[in-house]
Amino acid sequence: MIKDLIAYQNVDAKLRKIESELAQSPCRKKAISAKNYILNTPETVNKLDDRALQLSNAYEELLRQQASLIEQQKELSQAMEKAEDGKEMAFLIKKADELINAIKQVSSTCAKVNEDLQKVIKEYSSVRATNKSAQAQYAEATEEYEKLKESFKDERESIQKELEALKSKVDPLLMEKYLKKRQNKMFPIVYEVTGEACGSCLMELSMLEKNKLKNGEIIECEQCGKLLYKLN
Ligand SMILES: [Zn+2]
Repeated sequence: MIKDLIAYQNVDAKLRKIESELAQSPCRKKAISAKNYILNTPETVNKLDDRALQLSNAYEELLRQQASLIEQQKELSQAMEKAEDGKEMAFLIKKADELINAIKQVSSTCAKVNEDLQKVIKEYSSVRATNKSAQAQYAEATEEYEKLKESFKDERESIQKELEALKSKVDPLLMEKYLKKRQNKMFPIVYEVTGEACGSCLMELSMLEKNKLKNGEIIECEQCGKLLYKLN
């Protein structure tokens, strides 16, 4: 019984080799990286939107501060005209200097915020451009991948026919187990036990498992899930 499954697996290995070749092909990798970029673009754009909103709010707040400082400056110069003595004048001059400094401060912060806002706008157009080239790359790589896949079509079909013929010889329950593992990308699936441990992950087998194997049963490794057998 296990011999039929091993025969199946040997042929299946050819199919697996083609699948790996396809999965690891540069065009497949290119398509995946382009797709990931495209899928992440909305999130990137959302983050830029948030940043742009923050900056433009900050910019407006700074403009309000600037307007209020300029207003204070006007009031101060009116007060200076009405100043009655040197002491009051000195105080007002000191106030005027403070105001000038505050206005300078706000202006330079304004310029900084504006600079950041320009950076965000630049980033927007860079994201847009990269997204556009990612879409072109995705289309191109996908087309190349489909061609590569097509080139394996005949070989795959012939292997699949071979597998179909071998399948009927294998115990259906065992076959089902095998195919489920295969679907989960496990390969190889069937391992011979050499000595006292799983042939794949080397986990020590229990007495019960060893007895089952001795009786010709096929067991599943508790640790790695491989199907284990022992030839008597
Ligand atoms: Zn194992």
